[in-house]
Amino acid sequence: MSPPGAGDAAHFDVLVIGSGPAGQKAAVQAVKAGRRVALVEQEPGVGGMCVHRGTIPSKTLRESALQLSRLRSSAALLDFALKPGLEVASLMARLDEVVAAHVAYMGRQMSRNGIQLYHGRARFLSDRLVEVLSVDGSTRRLTAETIFIATGSRPRSPAEIPIDHENILDSDSILSMLYLPESLTILGGGVIACEYASIFAHLGVRVTMIDRADRPLKFMDAELVEKLVRDFERTGGRFLGERNIGSVEWDGVSKVVTRLATGETIESDKMLVALGRAAAVDGLDLAAAGLRANARGLLEVDAHCRTAIPHIYAIGDVIGPPSLAATAMEQGRRAACHALGLPPGSAAEMIPIGIYTIPEMASVGLSEDDAAKRFRGTPVIVGRGRFDEVARGQISGVQDGLLKIVGDPTGTKLLGVHIVGEGATELIHLGQMALLAGTGIVAGIALPAALIFSRRPPSPYVGRAADLLDVLAIMALIPLACAVIGIFGAIRGLFASIGG
Ligand code: FAD
Repeated sequence: MSPPGAGDAAHFDVLVIGSGPAGQKAAVQAVKAGRRVALVEQEPGVGGMCVHRGTIPSKTLRESALQLSRLRSSAALLDFALKPGLEVASLMARLDEVVAAHVAYMGRQMSRNGIQLYHGRARFLSDRLVEVLSVDGSTRRLTAETIFIATGSRPRSPAEIPIDHENILDSDSILSMLYLPESLTILGGGVIACEYASIFAHLGVRVTMIDRADRPLKFMDAELVEKLVRDFERTGGRFLGERNIGSVEWDGVSKVVTRLATGETIESDKMLVALGRAAAVDGLDLAAAGLRANARGLLEVDAHCRTAIPHIYAIGDVIGPPSLAATAMEQGRRAACHALGLPPGSAAEMIPIGIYTIPEMASVGLSEDDAAKRFRGTPVIVGRGRFDEVARGQISGVQDGLLKIVGDPTGTKLLGVHIVGEGATELIHLGQMALLAGTGIVAGIALPAALIFSRRPPSPYVGRAADLLDVLAIMALIPLACAVIGIFGAIRGLFASIGG
């Protein structure tokens, strides 16, 4: 039966609001299950913040920073620096092309699957009725049995920090900076703060990162983060932890002045405010659907991403951390499976985290601290493979990295895999496969790593579980080393051809 006020509304089985990674995956999953699906997007292009302002633009800039740092490390005798006053856009030359290709691909995927796309801003009229306002002012009503809210997030803007998007910027405006600054202060210690801190530091910007916590990325394994911070400081960056902000102001001439509660003052050309994100639900009229955001500005859901209204799900950034694209996709897929009564497949906690700092970080399963908490008092077993212990890593010049395997106290069950270093986000899937298979450490990591890539048998090490884990960790690095050598070869070739 149509909900009250539906009038001539178009009816669908599933309605998705927002075309970012979360919404897109939910829509595709539902349509593949034979449902009639509508997707509403307010922007002209599909893909969400991920494509237009988040992941893809920042990764394009990161690629330039990476190439520069590789060039520096493979040409240590050449003391060079970027031209002063370099335009940021020139470091992201291929961005428009990449975004356009991605938007076109996703548009094709939607139409090929028969997903009905509506352009406009959605708002709830009731828990089953949504109005879509188009740019030309016309409105359309849609009803659905199941609704997915996938409207993403926006930067949190504390009232006391005067963000002007010119000198004091947020993650939506940072890449609109015209010129590369000489110095940058970053407030925050989350994923976005760390990614930009390491990218700009590798581009030669003097970066100061300030956070309330004693270390950034509190949800990641502490040993990995320590390595990241060391690398950041080696490139000239500064991390100031356990600091509270007193005030921030633009001096009206050339500097952003940050005063800390400790009395310290930091001056920089620009500032990035990356103090978390809030759900983008303004204008959705959640109250009409019987919903509201919590005190942190996020939508609350159960383990299946269901809100307090059972046929309305919320997925992706709108429900809060980890606020990553891959997680958003998996939430979309799993929530759609739940809504349609389909088995979701793999366990949610086996979704790897990939963070594109320089160096990259990746993680799946329990960290050492979490594992220690789970086994209260009984020491868990940890193995470490350092990149500089793999000959191929040394040959290719990629020596700065660590792969860490966490096992249960008996050393037979794999609990987590954590990596910092180049290629971490590729290698993590080996750990994910092992965890998903639910097998012991040897079967999970040693077989793919040892049989395929290594000639070094673990047998002499079987006596001690920690030693065994060390060996397995090192072996697991070998596919990475192969991949990295390939990438390096390609980059050297590229620079050689540019130079020629
Ligand atoms: P979004 O991608 O934000 O999509 C939401 C969509 O909903 C938008 O298109 C919006 O226009 C639309 N919408 C909102 N309200 C309405 C409405 N009322 N009506 C119709 N449409 C509406 N993640 C990673 O995994 N790896 C990374 O390296 C990474 N880097 C990042 C770097 C930066 C600088 C930022 C900001 C984010 C980064 N992320 C990264 C995070 C990633 O971009 C997000 O986690 C992901 O985009 C969330 O997807 P989503 O589908 O929840 O929301």
